[in-house]
Amino acid sequence: MDALKDLNPKQREAARSISGPVLVVAGPGSGKTKTLTHRIAYLISSGVRPHNILAVTFTNKAAEEMKTRVSKLLSADGLRPAAGSQPLIGTFHSICARILRKDARALGYEPDFTIYDEEDALKLIKNIMRDLSVDQKQFNPAKIRATISSLKDNLTTPDDYEIEADDPFRREVHKVYVTYQNALHKQNAMDFDDLLMKVVELFEKHPRILQRYQSQFTHVLIDEFQDTNVSQYKIANSLAAAHRNLYCIGDLDQSIYSFRGADYRNILYFEKDWPDAKVITLGQNYRSVQSILDVADAIISRNSNRKKKKLWTQNGQGDPIVIKEVENEMEEGDFIVSEIERLVRARDLALKDFVVLYRTNAQSRALEESFLRRGFPYKIIGGIKFYQRKEIKDILAWLRLCLNPNDLMAMNRVHDLPAKFFTIKNQSASCRTKAQKINFLTEDFTKKSKDLKLTEFLEYVIKNTGLEEHVRDGTERGEERWDNVRELLSVCVKYNEEEPQQATRMLVEEAALAQEADNVEYEKDLVSLMTLHATKGLEFSVVFIAGCEQGLLPHSRALFGANHEELEEERRLCYVGVTRAKEKLYLSFAQRRMMFGKTQSNPPSEFLQHIPEHLIEFIPAEEENVIELD
Ligand code: ATP
Ligand code: MG
Repeated sequence: MDALKDLNPKQREAARSISGPVLVVAGPGSGKTKTLTHRIAYLISSGVRPHNILAVTFTNKAAEEMKTRVSKLLSADGLRPAAGSQPLIGTFHSICARILRKDARALGYEPDFTIYDEEDALKLIKNIMRDLSVDQKQFNPAKIRATISSLKDNLTTPDDYEIEADDPFRREVHKVYVTYQNALHKQNAMDFDDLLMKVVELFEKHPRILQRYQSQFTHVLIDEFQDTNVSQYKIANSLAAAHRNLYCIGDLDQSIYSFRGADYRNILYFEKDWPDAKVITLGQNYRSVQSILDVADAIISRNSNRKKKKLWTQNGQGDPIVIKEVENEMEEGDFIVSEIERLVRARDLALKDFVVLYRTNAQSRALEESFLRRGFPYKIIGGIKFYQRKEIKDILAWLRLCLNPNDLMAMNRVHDLPAKFFTIKNQSASCRTKAQKINFLTEDFTKKSKDLKLTEFLEYVIKNTGLEEHVRDGTERGEERWDNVRELLSVCVKYNEEEPQQATRMLVEEAALAQEADNVEYEKDLVSLMTLHATKGLEFSVVFIAGCEQGLLPHSRALFGANHEELEEERRLCYVGVTRAKEKLYLSFAQRRMMFGKTQSNPPSEFLQHIPEHLIEFIPAEEENVIELD
């Protein structure tokens, strides 16, 4: 195949090894993702039918990009898969949702089950704690929720969970967990962890169904394998058990999601579970200049739990990296904006070639202010996600009820809306109370959802629930909320050609599976601001990492915890950030920083101490011109 000519010999070997288990372990920027994309195209050009290919990526955005790349590679070779036969490319969650929509009946769920987001899940936990009289002051609901979530990630069912008589926390968790799972089932709902756990259960209890998927997906490919959790690993292994064509790529040093149950040891288990796996390592880095790779090496080599590997490139030595000291967070933002302005002119770069990274979302506000003050175009990725805004969730709650009348969280939400704005044509006595009005509207909407195009249907819902009058309360904030509602209408346009009820399903699903990294407007020429976690797999010409201070990066949790693993994970996170940079890297730290309403003064990050001096250009804070007043 012609497209493979862009690959180096090792990459080509990986792309061509299409039968049997293969593990590619290699550092950042070595072309793992590129090779995976080429491999899909190669499989298709070798006669594998596209719908027999399953590729799992880490974000929805990465999945979209992969689809585009594959179809470009194929059309360059004069191949185009028929419309009905496309490779399935998505995240574990989206793929599992799809499997369950088809087969959840076997587990006693209706196909139109609702996917509860974190907010819904926590509300349900709180309701249950109230009903079971579990003291919410003594037992923090968020902590109980997090504990249940990690049990589910590890496939520990309520039955497997050991209750110890002298451990009241475990006892309460167990009680809430049992009731929570029953409530979800009754409400025909699944939380995020269920999407994975229920697929594992489906495959275990129904070997016939598993066989069907095994014969459908004869080739399974997984990117960012180091960040899979127990359930994801199990799903991948079960799917591949029959045909054995499992291709996993990853990098132990980039594992950064252990707080969500990811276990980097899956890479090590893979070699045990598939002893005949072909293991391929890729050496050369194509992304960065050598100075950036040397800095990355200096940081990560302090981790004890790793296999040593040297990052090298033919991209040249590059500039030293800049370590910038600033007085406070305002100066940090101003420095970053000035540097971007300067580099755009000096190096002929576009704004989308820049990214500003930080450890915690709370840091974005100060940075954002600098961009706003200078009138500089930027885009925050993450923060309050579009689909989590109240006005958007309020509309979607009505749609959710049309699909699943047992969705209690949506029902509670519409009950919290002011009924005075509802337009009820039915004036009869059966439509007096709020509950009756809600019933009437839900029935009416359910009928309309089967006839109207999605945008028309949404406009109908907005009109009859009086949402415009409700949100446009004369304030600027109200106008902003109304703009969001209109933005939702434009999101819907892409589903207008679908069968009406299916379009509603697709919109609700898109909202349920939305992720932090999704709203990245890569197409627009804007500077991106995002957390280190959201930057996985991406690359930018110039990278700024703000807040390189003890307590931020590494995060205070890792400093005060007795756990050495947490500090190693912080180091990996820093490593991921550094290795996003192609040409230039800036690490900044502030002498003082206002965080959560307090001024803090922390030493520079310990990660900076190990960078060899010859790789650094240090810019100290500007001398303050303090006029002493007696
Ligand atoms: P990460 O671990 O950060 O996800 P990766 O190993 O997946 O990195 P890619 O994103 O696939 O790396 O590739 C990094 C960059 O190098 C991309 O811009 C890619 O196009 C380029 N690249 C990879 N292989 C080659 C090659 N053989 N020739 C030229 N460019 C390449
Ligand atoms: Mg990659």
